[in-house]
Amino acid sequence: MFNVTHHLIFYIHVEFHLASRCSVCGVSSESSDHLFIRCPLAVALWEAVFSAFQRRISSDTWSLFFSQAMLVSFSDQVRVLWKTTIHVVVWSVWLARNQWIFKSKTMDFRSALSFVWRAVSDANWLEIGCMRNCVDDLLILYRFDLRGCPARASVIRSVIWSSPAPGWIKVNTDNAALSSPGAGGCEGIFRNCRAFVKGCFTVPLDHVFAFEAKLLAASIAINFS
Ligand SMILES: [Zn+2]
Repeated sequence: MFNVTHHLIFYIHVEFHLASRCSVCGVSSESSDHLFIRCPLAVALWEAVFSAFQRRISSDTWSLFFSQAMLVSFSDQVRVLWKTTIHVVVWSVWLARNQWIFKSKTMDFRSALSFVWRAVSDANWLEIGCMRNCVDDLLILYRFDLRGCPARASVIRSVIWSSPAPGWIKVNTDNAALSSPGAGGCEGIFRNCRAFVKGCFTVPLDHVFAFEAKLLAASIAINFS
């Protein structure tokens, strides 16, 4: 297993001796700001990371960029993956730069990204902390093809559907919103005392909070009934 801790400690202690011209792109003059946030390889890696975690950091200086990245809020499980990713992206860019200088070898975007993704997968094996039991965390873990560690429910209740009294129609609704606020939707199903479906609805919602989706589901159910 990739020893994340070892590499992180190594990264923290490493001293960056920068050349006058960026060895990765060969275009701009080399500085930590260029190498880690503006060099095309770094930009492409950060875009992939931001897309996977649905978070974005933007800053003109590397030190500010790194500080902001360390402050992004996640659940315990996803925070470990996020911080690992940040450090391994830096490590990959530094590796690409040194491979060219000392071995005249180039590291392309694909191999750098696969290196980062492998490290994230290895970090998940450490099983530090739990995810939030929400769609956002689930999607992040799916993007890396990782197993989630759900938080334990504080109260466990069995939920069993029971039929309404004869002559009555029961409606059950559900709702969801991606992010807060974000694209959402709600749905409902009407059933009689013998559990026969008498109707149903599904409504996409543009930009809502979860509680708005819940209220809209109830409101739509009343309109349909
Ligand atoms: Zn460059």
